[in-house]
Order: sequence, then structure tokens, then C-alpha cells
Amino acid sequence: RAAALSSSQAAALDVLHRVWGYDDFRGEQAAIIDQVVGGGDALVLMPTGGGKSLCYQVPALVRDGIGVVVSPLIALMQDQVDALAANGVKAAFLNSTQGPDERARVERAIVSGEVDMLYLAPERLRLESTRSLLDRARLALFAIDEAHCVAQWGHDFRPDYLELSVLHERWPTVPRIALTATATPQTHREISGRLGLDDAAHFVADFDRPNIQYRIEPKTGALQQLLTFIKTEHRGDAGIVYCLSRNSVERTAAALADQGIPALPYHAGLDAKVRERNQSRFLREDGIVMVATIAFGMGIDKPDVRFVAHLDLPKSVEGYYQETGRAGRDGLPSTAWLAYGLNDVVQQRRMIDQSEGDAAHRRQLSAHLDAMLSLCETIECRRVRLLAYFGQESTPCGNCDTCIAPPEPWDGTVPAQKFLSTVVRLERERGQRYGVAHLVDILVGKQSPRVQELRHDSLATFGIGSDLGEGEWRAVARQLLAQGYAAVSGDGFGTVVLSPTSAEVLGGRTRVLMRRDPVKASRASRSRR
Ligand code: ADP
Ligand code: ZN
Repeated sequence: RAAALSSSQAAALDVLHRVWGYDDFRGEQAAIIDQVVGGGDALVLMPTGGGKSLCYQVPALVRDGIGVVVSPLIALMQDQVDALAANGVKAAFLNSTQGPDERARVERAIVSGEVDMLYLAPERLRLESTRSLLDRARLALFAIDEAHCVAQWGHDFRPDYLELSVLHERWPTVPRIALTATATPQTHREISGRLGLDDAAHFVADFDRPNIQYRIEPKTGALQQLLTFIKTEHRGDAGIVYCLSRNSVERTAAALADQGIPALPYHAGLDAKVRERNQSRFLREDGIVMVATIAFGMGIDKPDVRFVAHLDLPKSVEGYYQETGRAGRDGLPSTAWLAYGLNDVVQQRRMIDQSEGDAAHRRQLSAHLDAMLSLCETIECRRVRLLAYFGQESTPCGNCDTCIAPPEPWDGTVPAQKFLSTVVRLERERGQRYGVAHLVDILVGKQSPRVQELRHDSLATFGIGSDLGEGEWRAVARQLLAQGYAAVSGDGFGTVVLSPTSAEVLGGRTRVLMRRDPVKASRASRSRR
């Protein structure tokens, strides 16, 4: 086999053995590295944990000069540089956290050729001083990490990334490699276009993470569900729990710690020292559960994260996939667990309505949310849906909740009509709008104080839904909102209003298929393990 290697391939393999002590390249690493070592451009779409770093680190060492890595993850640069230094690689970084002395020291090392790899925050490249510094150095390549940040349609746009087209104009002979773990066909096209990589070699890796079991359950009591999940399936394991707000991060971490689970909080509002300490404990100690906002995790390389749990609905499938992808980088069985409920839909629709930016921006946020909701409500294999979102075809996986305990589809047209009629009657007859809780009270015929006060027991739809329980009605409401047959008004109170497609349901022109959630999906999966 060795005889068939070109000299540059042999050099790459030698670096892999010598510097990292690994036996062989994985997946497409060898082909990608070959392309860049040969001076060609590359665009790499590879899932989290796929091994993107080596794709630019190895060529940076094989080629003469400095490998310049553009990364938005300033907080991680020190760690990345330390990790490389531990392997004997001369690495350095330039970002806003450094003082002038430190910066001058790094700049001298760059010019005198004592640096193999340089991490740069994208905003540094806007400075003419940085550009002329790079002019004076010998450059091996540019790596653009987290390249999806250039995509305005993506979920993580950073304006500084738009400036990265300067790389090719100013240094046309230095090869570029752009890498990302988010790869919808649309984002792919946008990265390629904006970074001028249409003529580069594109490498699209298999996005499946077969060792991750995907599970999405309806929220009943999120914290209790989380506790049960951790205690029965992941006691003693390292994991990440994502929450939407700093507040719920704090509360959840405290509640877990109270139950004897070693949980630490992480969010942007914490003191930098505390954040750093919690992050390094998570990385170095065994079995720590990090409770965090999505501020945590990008670039974190901990191979044995056994579960990623979401207590709130992610805003996009890309975000969900990236966050869950932090589980099981070592390839061992891991769980991606999400609890999702009616309030998530209401809250997120409201946040979109109130978000800054123009109508196009709100439409984009809505499209992201709709895709996430349809993943939650699907009765098909979660993995098939996820991969299809990334443009990849597959067959049912046998390792997700819907494969393990298939939810029963049912025709929810009649309940949907009852629900929407109630919304219509309240509006037409009384000029009033209400949230889901009150609508459900009316449907099941509950004489709540509010119902009595407002005389809603005299509505024609009062009690017409007594065949279903309150929980079932909440599920009906959730699915109507998720499927867009009802909407939440922008008033900030979660009031339910008709949507443009409500009339199709009310007029009997559309059947509404719903999922009846299996009661004990998690138990079914446990017995399989
Ligand atoms: P990504 O950036 O794509 O999320 P990383 O570059 O952090 O992934 O790699 C994930 C893990 O896999 C790291 O721990 C890395 O050291 C390891 N790894 C990558 N390539 C190889 C390889 N060829 N052999 C052994 N381990 C590898
Ligand atoms: Zn499946």
C-alpha cells in the first residue's frame, strides 16, 4: 500500500503519525489533505466530530510556511494553541484579548517564520496592519473554520465573514480550505458563492451519526423528564443540557445538583472566570453535566459526551444537528434527547414576531422554525428526516424514537375543526382572543372561574370536545400551530388566531394528520439497550 502513495501523501501520513500518533486518516481526510497539500482550494462539509481540524492542520505542517486559521471562536483559541503545542506544533493566535506586548511578540514570531499555525479572529483580517503582517510572512494556506458563518440564510451569520473574499484577491496563490458542519444544500451554495469556491474541490461527507439515538418527547414536566432520563439512562455520564435562557440554565443546573447530579451552569452572563472554570472542569473531569445556553459548545472537543438534552426547542434544524452532534464523538452509543411542547411553539413564534429586522428576516426565522417543528411532529424516522434536510437520502434507522416505538398517526381533522371553530366564534361573536389554556377549558367544558366570569359556557362550542382529555387537546393545539393551521398573534400574550390555511381545515378541504405520542417511548428504547 505504501508503494502507491505519492510523496506528498507519504509526507501527510508521516505528519499524522509523528505529530498526532494516529494510525490512519478517516473517511475523506486523506483526499481533502491531498487536495490542499497540492495547492488546491477545498470546501469541506463534514459533521461535528468528523475530524475537520486535521484537514487543515496536516497540510499546514506539510506545506512550507504558516497555516492561517480564521475562526470566530476567540474563547477557544488558547485551548487550541495549547493542544497543538502539546503535540510539538508551533501555534499562536491573534485576537482582541491580547495586550500589545503579547501581540508584538506573536507578530515577530510570524515574520521570522517561527510559527506553523496562526489562529485569527475574522475581524483581525479587516485591519490593514494584519494584512501587511501576513504579506511579510510565508503562508502555507488559509483555513476558514465555521464557514457557514458567511451564509446570510444560515443560522449563525457573522458579517466579518463576508470580508473573507479578500483572501483570494490579496493572496491568490495561497490555497484556501473552508470547513463547516452545517450543510443544507442552500448553505452549501451560499458558502461556495460568497467565498469564491465554486471552482474548488467540494467534499461532502456522510452526515449520519449512527451512534446517536435521536429522541423527541412531548413536554409534560420538563425538569422531571430530564431527571428521569439522566437517572435511568445516563447516570454518571458526561452530558450537555441546553436551555434557551440564562435563567433556566441557572435553575436547571441547581435542580440537577440538588439531585446529586454534578451539573455546572454556562452562559454568556456568567463571569468569564467562572465560565472558564466550568468549561475546563467539564473537559477534564468525568461525568460532569454542563447546563448551558447555545453559547456553549462550538469547537468543544470532548469525545465521551454521552448525551445532549434540549429542554427548549432549538430555533433551527441546523442548530439542533450541530448541538446534538457534540454527543458521541468517540463513536459509542449516545443519546440526543429533546423535550418539546406547546409553549415552545407559542414562545418561539412570539419571539419571531417581536424580533428585530425586516419581514424577509422574520420569514427566514419562520422557515427555520417550521423545519424544526416538522422534525418534532414527524411520524417518520427522525434520522431520515434529518438527513433529508441535509440533502442526503437514507432508510429508516432503527435507532430513533419513531423507529423504536412508531407513533400512531390519526386523523385529527374533526378535533382541529372544533378547536378552530372555537377560535372563530370567540372572535366573531365576542371580538375576543385567548391563549390555548382557555380554549381547551372551553372545549372540554370546564367551568373554570374565567369561563364563568366571561360566560363562555354559553358558547356553542362549550364542551364539544369532552371526548378528549386536556392533554390531548394541548397536543392538538400544538400540532395545529406546528403545522401552521393556527397561528399565534404578535401581541406577546400567546393568543391564538386563525392562519391563512385555517379555512381549508374549517371548510373540510384538508385532512389534518396528527401523531398520537407513544406514552412510554423511553422505556421501549431502554429495553433494547
Ligand atoms: P470536527 O472539527 O469535525 O468536529 P475534530 O477535528 O475535532 O472534529 O475531530 C474529532 C475527534 O476525532 C478529535 O478528538 C480528533 O482528534 C479525532 N480524530 C480526527 N481524525 C482522526 C484520525 N484520523 N484518527 C484518529 N482520531 C482522529
Ligand atoms: Zn429512525
